[in-house]
Amino acid sequence: MRRPNAVRTKTGRRFTLIELLVVIAIIAILAGILMPALQQARERARSINCLGNARELGRVYLFYSDDYDNYLPCLDNMGGDGAVNSSGETVSGKTWLNDIVKKYLGRLNASTEPYKLLFCPNETVTEDITTNYGLNYLIATENKTGIKTTRFKHHSKTAMLVENTGHLCYYCDVTNPGKTHAAGSSYGLNRAAFFRHNDRASVTFLDGHAEGVEKKKVPCRESFPDLSKDDLEYTLFNRGVMSKP
Ligand SMILES: [Zn+2]
Repeated sequence: MRRPNAVRTKTGRRFTLIELLVVIAIIAILAGILMPALQQARERARSINCLGNARELGRVYLFYSDDYDNYLPCLDNMGGDGAVNSSGETVSGKTWLNDIVKKYLGRLNASTEPYKLLFCPNETVTEDITTNYGLNYLIATENKTGIKTTRFKHHSKTAMLVENTGHLCYYCDVTNPGKTHAAGSSYGLNRAAFFRHNDRASVTFLDGHAEGVEKKKVPCRESFPDLSKDDLEYTLFNRGVMSKP
């Protein structure tokens, strides 16, 4: 008859309950050691995926710029009163960038596609958020028109797309150091840069390359009120200083 609290092995030796508990404890300890490494690997994969999204979206806006006399998409009218698509039709400001993506990639379908390209893998896709990658406001509009890429001097250092939760990223205003838009203002916190990957945000630059940029290198006044004026002047944005039109 089999003894309770013991397991017979192939060789006939029996494990006692205590031995089993020791094995289980060792497995639990190993799992505890491996889990953080697995989570890190998963986060690394997500940040690579996010960078890929940002790079591809950046490519789309550069295609647009090539086709439209070097103008970047203009985003002055986010409310939809005046944004015009490539066919000259007035469109909702909320879907304007998605229309551009659709034009060049031709694979977005609001009802069936999850719009994966438009969202960071660390975010939950919700209907009221149209993308997780915002155009740098400073390069997206000027006097209600777009801005030509040829006016920027340092394309590899000028941020074009910044990871956030909307179509524009406002909270990186280096033209008015210390006067960025207040949290809760009409611009809302969803216009701030978001750092979803170990305190880094995916940023695509005007030359088309993308990299994860540390928090301290993105001048977000709302999150970092102690940043000095000098810090703000030495930013991703200011390095791409524009020439006169
Ligand atoms: Zn991301």
